[in-house]
Formats: sequence, structure tokens, C-alpha cells
Amino acid sequence: MIDCMHKHTKLSAFLLSCVTLIILTGAGYIAIRLIDISTIIYPYLVSGLLLLSIVLIFVIVYQSLRIDESARSLAKGITKEMIAHSQDLFTVLYRNSPVPYILIDERGMTESVNFSTARLFNTEIALLEGINIFNCIEGDDEQKIALIPEYFKQGRFSNDIEARIHQSDKTVRWVMLSLFSFTDDRGDKKGLMTLVDITKQKQIDKAKSEFVSLASHQLRTPVSAIRWNLELLATALGEQVSDSQKLYIQKINDMISRMQALIDDFLNVSKLELGTLVAQNAVFDLTQFFGSIIDEYHAFALHQEVEIVTNWGYAFGTYKSDSHLLNMAISNLLGNAIKYTPAHGTVYAHTELSDTQLIIQIRDTGIGIPEEDKEMIFTKLYRASNVQSYGASGTGLGLYIVKEAIRILGGTVSFESKIGEGTTFTVVLPK
Ligand code: ADP
Repeated sequence: MIDCMHKHTKLSAFLLSCVTLIILTGAGYIAIRLIDISTIIYPYLVSGLLLLSIVLIFVIVYQSLRIDESARSLAKGITKEMIAHSQDLFTVLYRNSPVPYILIDERGMTESVNFSTARLFNTEIALLEGINIFNCIEGDDEQKIALIPEYFKQGRFSNDIEARIHQSDKTVRWVMLSLFSFTDDRGDKKGLMTLVDITKQKQIDKAKSEFVSLASHQLRTPVSAIRWNLELLATALGEQVSDSQKLYIQKINDMISRMQALIDDFLNVSKLELGTLVAQNAVFDLTQFFGSIIDEYHAFALHQEVEIVTNWGYAFGTYKSDSHLLNMAISNLLGNAIKYTPAHGTVYAHTELSDTQLIIQIRDTGIGIPEEDKEMIFTKLYRASNVQSYGASGTGLGLYIVKEAIRILGGTVSFESKIGEGTTFTVVLPK
């Protein structure tokens, strides 16, 4: 803008000078013609007029340059004022924003926080400045929380991570944390963290989970009673039962099994969400453990006409973990492998126990998981697009349970899959 004004002033000065020169020369010429002046004073008059023109041009150029200079300083003043104004505006917005903002240095030490942050921590701004923010953050998923400073060091974003903070009176607040790094105008690395309070949503989720947990518990007993009574009835009727009646009894039995599996899934999910499933580690025998899971799924595999090939029938020692949680995870993986493998397919169960880890692999020659569903497959209630046409029933809760159970046990679960060829789930647990 300043440059533009500068150019404009210069052009005006040049034009004004030209116009003045033309006017003065014209005026001189007209004067000579109109007034019959003797040729003696003629040269003096021309020189006088020329001199006057030069003086006038000089005055005009000088004035225009002065105007130019004042325009420049005025523009500078306006720009400075505008910058100062927008900085003030930014500071006011930052300080009073309803979103808690925290500015940190490269070590994670807080440099400034806004009023919302102070409200969130229920303390004063001054008490939150100069502390290491990473020490104030916890979460159920410790691995994810540990990655936040790691990502920050690498200059990567952390987005929408569920975390916990403690207020000054030790009250817990749940937050959705995001952190991105940037370099300030002095070249120093900084981070801007936002903490969105989600405590209310968490409380509502907790209430829902408690309700599901209670309802599932209440449903368990009558469903079990129906099964026992059906078994009693079938035994009492004995040989009197016709083939079609046998089929009805079988169908009722299958439905009860499905209902029981559903109730168990609901109960497990609500327990995981309420955080009541804490690992209770004890030493157990791996051969026995895997053997009982295979026994449990033997009938199902026969029914599906799927062969199970294992290499965990050997006595490969003892292992310390929560066998209930591990059973929950491996049963789900094995059950899925059998369920999603068409007749005459094979499910391979493989384990490796080293000094540092236990690896469990469940591979099948089944329908596979489509590429576009892979990212969501561990999400609660998610089912891949190919299961409807395959016709296998399910809730979409099993893999969520697997992921959460393995996380509680301190391990990881991953998979590889090719549509129409099969799927391999791999669980890695620390020893
Ligand atoms: P579901 O009750 O539907 O089996 P899960 O949570 O156990 O729910 O699994 C989620 C989805 O992942 C399934 O609906 C299915 O689409 C896919 N899936 C899981 N395991 C396998 C597998 N071994 N082969 C193919 N697809 C699988």
C-alpha cells in the first residue's frame, strides 16, 4: 500500500511539473506576441520565464516529496496500529475463549494458559504456568497417553485423545486433548494444546453402561433357566419326540445360545467401559488354557465343517496373566475365524512363547475383510460389508472386546486380511 502511494505521488509531481512548464512557456509566448516588446528585452524575458519555471518545478517536486514522506510515515503508523490492534484482539480471544488453551515449550512446560484452562483445573492461571503439562495428563489407554509427548517431539499432531486431569481438589475431569506443534517467529518450537471438557458425556456414557450391565445381569438368570428347562423337557419326552419336534427343540436351543452370547457380549462391553475389568494376574498352564478353548469350539467347528489345526497342544509352560481376559479375547478370535470360514476351510491356531513375549496367531481361510472396512473393524458394533451376503450373525462387539482386553493385558492385536483368501489375527503379549 505504501509503495502504491509512493508511485502515485511521484507520477503526480511529474505531471504537475510538465503542465507548469507548458503553461509558463505558453504564457511567455502569448505575452511576447500580444505586447510588442522590443527585441532587446526579449532574451531577458525568455531567460526570466525559464528561471521562474525551473524554480516552480523545483518547489513542486520538493513539496511532492515531502507529501510522499508524510504519506509513508502515516501509512507506517496505520500499519503499526493495525498490527497492534489485531495482536490485542488475538490476545483477548485467546484469554477469553471458552476452549481451554495451553501454550507449551518444547519440553512440555506451560508458558501461558487462558481463563478456561484455569476454570477447568479449578485453580489460578499463575499456578498453571511453568509446570510440565504431560505430568498432569492420565488416561485409561496409557499407551496412547505416552505417545502424546513422543508425537510432539517428532512434530506430529495428537488429535482427540481421551484423557483425565485432576482439579486442585483432586476431582477428576475428562477431556478430549489435541496438541499441535509450531515454530514461533524466533524459531523456537512451541505447542498449542486444547482440552475440551467431556466429563458430562462420560457420565452419561457411564450411566448407560451401568444400565446395560444391570440389564444383562438380570437377563442371564432367566435365559439360563429356559435352557435348563428345555433340556429337562427334552429328556422327559425321550423317545416320544418326533423328528420335526426335535428340530424345533434344536432351534430353540440355538436361539438360547445366541441370546446368551449376546448377553455375555453386552456384559463384557459394559464392564470394559466402566473400567471394572482390571487385570488380575495369576500363573496358569498354557496347554490347559488353550486346550479348553479348543474343546469349547470343537462342536461349533464340526457344525460349520471347518477343521481346526493347532500347534498349542504341547506343554510349553506356564504364563502369568489374567486368564479370564485372555480367554475372552482368544475365544472371540477363534469363534470369528470358524464363523467366517466357509465349509471345508481351515483355521490354524499358532502360539510362540519366548523369553520376552507370548505370540498368539489365529489364521483362517475364510471370507476375509474388505479393504474399506479394515480401519473400523475394532470399533464397537461395526461389521464389515461382506458379512451380510455371507449370512453370519453377529453383534460387532467381539473385536472391540478383543482389543480392550488385550490392551488391559498390556499387549497389542493386529491383523492381515485378503478378501476371499483369509485373515490372520496376531496377539502379542509381554511375558
Ligand atoms: P461379529 O459379532 O459381527 O462377528 P466382531 O466384532 O467379532 O463382530 O467382528 C467385527 C467384524 O469383523 C465382523 O462382523 C466381520 O465383518 C469382521 N471379522 C472379524 N473376524 C473376521 C474373520 N476372521 N474373517 C473375516 N471377517 C472377520
